[in-house]
Amino acid sequence: MESLYQTGTPFRLDLFRCRSLRDVTEAISIVLEQYSEIFPASKDARILIKPNLNSNMNALTGNTTDLRLLSALVQGLKKRGYQNIVIGEGTNSGFYRSKIGVISRLRVDSLARYYGIELKDLNYSEGREISFAGGVKARVARECLEADLFINVPKLKTHFEVGMSVCLKNLMGCLVGQENKKKTHQSLAENILHLNSNIKPHLHIVDGIIAMDGLGPTRGKPKNMGLIVVGTDPFLIDMVCARIAQFGYRSVTTLKLAEDKGLITKDYHDFLGSLDISSFISRFEEPKANPLASFIHSPKRQKYFLAVRNTRLFSFLASTRFFGYLLFLSGLRQDNFITDDMVCDGLSFDASLCRAGCTKCSDYCPMGLTLPEQIKEQGSPCINCLYCFLVCPTKAIGFKGNLGFMADQLRQYDKITREVA
Ligand code: SF4
Ligand code: SF4
Repeated sequence: MESLYQTGTPFRLDLFRCRSLRDVTEAISIVLEQYSEIFPASKDARILIKPNLNSNMNALTGNTTDLRLLSALVQGLKKRGYQNIVIGEGTNSGFYRSKIGVISRLRVDSLARYYGIELKDLNYSEGREISFAGGVKARVARECLEADLFINVPKLKTHFEVGMSVCLKNLMGCLVGQENKKKTHQSLAENILHLNSNIKPHLHIVDGIIAMDGLGPTRGKPKNMGLIVVGTDPFLIDMVCARIAQFGYRSVTTLKLAEDKGLITKDYHDFLGSLDISSFISRFEEPKANPLASFIHSPKRQKYFLAVRNTRLFSFLASTRFFGYLLFLSGLRQDNFITDDMVCDGLSFDASLCRAGCTKCSDYCPMGLTLPEQIKEQGSPCINCLYCFLVCPTKAIGFKGNLGFMADQLRQYDKITREVA
């Protein structure tokens, strides 16, 4: 596992090259060791892990935080004796409004159950009001303000509105429910900075294992970067990620605004100038929306679109399957809210198709199962995440049951995922 560790007061930064569960576990174990001074002394301390679970598209599509990273992190914390660990995320408001359980679709609930930790959809949290641009007040989840240790675990993604979604943008999931998310959507970059001045995670661990480029945050393409970026300063990490993606950091609107407000100083540039991250650089495709979405979402016109979108009539129409799908097809909506859940009756394995020397299924299994041998084993802790099924290059692993919403993920990503993984 290749890694780079750099420190220079007041910054510190670690980059790890990770391809398999084993690499991720090793990287997290190093992180827990190297950042030990930020970990609370009390084993009862409240630890909040905040992933990006913005969509029901799993980590292999580049959408959401990789279960291998969550699994390794929870295991590492538990090994150090921490008892009070919560995974919390306020999932995408469209799914929330449609009463679709993104957290369970991504199997994060099964993972949490296996490790005996708490899981919280922050959309249903008790909120505390904070101030945003233009005198707007909106509520953020109490857990995000009160955690003794807040670990932000964002996904490395492009974002068609702000350029990139990494540490800074991931805190949007701390807002409680659609009502509060809506209030802050206008002046998005500015409000992301407001959130970051009120909520200050102690540690950021960026999942760039399978990142997303192109039309993020939901409709881009998975990009196998095999990368985890760790540090304590979200501005610095977001700047590093922009450089890795070969985006000028000022094309990321949150970073541009942060610099204009004096939050990014010469120290940041000096530290960045001292870094040699050339071996991690890989150009990302920019998040260009189609002409209609670009026209409507331009900063000048977006407020009119948001005003229409927030009316009752539009909200009602958008909640219908037909109109909602039209919005998805037009590119005005990034997600397709399919209400059919997946029912998995197990996985099958065809040994005649299994390729000698391949280790992909076990590399990707967040539960550390010995695959493919353990696929059909009764009583195994398989959480039906389907990672093994999705990455197998020869389709030796089969699915039994009703795919439900997962059929749409396969329609969009099956071929790409098998190639990229
Ligand atoms: S991913 Fe597929 S081909 Fe590779 S070891 Fe697993 S079952 Fe065999
Ligand atoms: S065996 Fe496959 S479906 Fe089960 S937890 Fe591992 S990767 Fe996920």
